Amino acid sequence: MIEIVSIGTELLNGTTVDTNSAYIGQRLLSHGYSVSEKATVADEREALTEVLTRALAKHDIVITTGGLGPTFDDLTLPIAAALFKEELVHSDEVEAHLKARFGDHVSISQQSKVPKNARVFLNDVGTAPSCILSKEGKHLILLPGVPAEMRYFMDTHIMPFIDEVLEKKEKIAHATAFLFGLTESEVDPFLRTLCEKYSGLEMGIYPSYGTLGITLKAQGISVDEAHREVSEKYADVFYSDEDRRIEKALHKEMIAKGKTLALAESCTGGMIAARIAQIPNASEYFLGGIVSYSNAFKEKLLHVKSLQNHGAVSEETAREMAEGALKASDADYAIAVTGIAGPDGGTLEKPVGTVCFGWSFRNGEAETERIVFSGDRCQVRFKTIEHALQGMLKRILCRH
Ligand code: ATP
Ligand code: MG
Repeated sequence: MIEIVSIGTELLNGTTVDTNSAYIGQRLLSHGYSVSEKATVADEREALTEVLTRALAKHDIVITTGGLGPTFDDLTLPIAAALFKEELVHSDEVEAHLKARFGDHVSISQQSKVPKNARVFLNDVGTAPSCILSKEGKHLILLPGVPAEMRYFMDTHIMPFIDEVLEKKEKIAHATAFLFGLTESEVDPFLRTLCEKYSGLEMGIYPSYGTLGITLKAQGISVDEAHREVSEKYADVFYSDEDRRIEKALHKEMIAKGKTLALAESCTGGMIAARIAQIPNASEYFLGGIVSYSNAFKEKLLHVKSLQNHGAVSEETAREMAEGALKASDADYAIAVTGIAGPDGGTLEKPVGTVCFGWSFRNGEAETERIVFSGDRCQVRFKTIEHALQGMLKRILCRH
């Protein structure tokens, strides 16, 4: 029904990661439409013509991103116009809009060309306008490659257009559930029974470090009942029905409980704070963090006393770091991490990947954990962030 075509040689050689198609897919699904195919194609005339011809033969709606600019490698517009047997004509409206925003710019006349009978949407955040070519029930939607511009068009013009075109067709019902700590094979038998019980229900399992995402999709029937069964079956490990990100669930929970959080980070170098601060309004509960990378910092700012006896990477130090962060900030809860991310610095007793965690609470309680993670520096740090945040969320969810 819908195909996305991502255009750009840089997407094929890995220079740019194709985030646009992910965004388009998510926006469509949020309105109940699923994408049945996706193609990525180079900025090459023949290849692009072939991919678009095939996509339009098979699908009613084809959405492209990229190649709309004024440079020699931007081929989308002339190829799309040729496929719909449309002439490219000068648009006074596009030119006036560009002139009003950018003055007399050299590429304005080039950027003002649009297919004669296309719907044209002016670009309020960049230069290239977006166009929709329609013929005999087929719609080719052209979006720029610049992610901010693509998002602007998707949200303001394309979703309303697609809603209008697909209004009478049956939408897809979908729901998600995110769980802690289970493996695919642990949930598989139960999910199979649900698929047998609700005919037409499609389910997917998506594991990531320490979490499992379950998606439910169906056409023509509701997925609410099956979603409720999943939430009830896994109530003790269920943490979100909308977003995999632990920091999002933690954010919600902390604000609901009116509690505050502080951090003391060593091997993650502030990345836990960055993850937390990525969610808007994190300041409502997140007081701040101390990046205590050196021993001197741990002693001076967090008043850690265990370094001599237990070393920087020890549960004792992690506990003192968390307690130091609590004292320094007056927060309700604190998380501390200290570890050896590698590739150097490991010993027989404390190999690379050893990380110690501390979670402290204002009532004086504290818990610690030592884990030896596998993987390179990047993976060890990623797992440390996940484990630290998951550890906090799990402990908070238990404290009702
Ligand atoms: P412009 O009008 O700015 O020339 P365009 O439609 O020609 O836009 P491109 O030149 O293909 O777009 O890409 C512009 C920028 O957007 C580049 O930095 C490119 O890497 C990035 N980009 C293009 N396609 C994607 C995509 N699918 N996902 C993420 N980024 C993308
Ligand atoms: Mg390009």
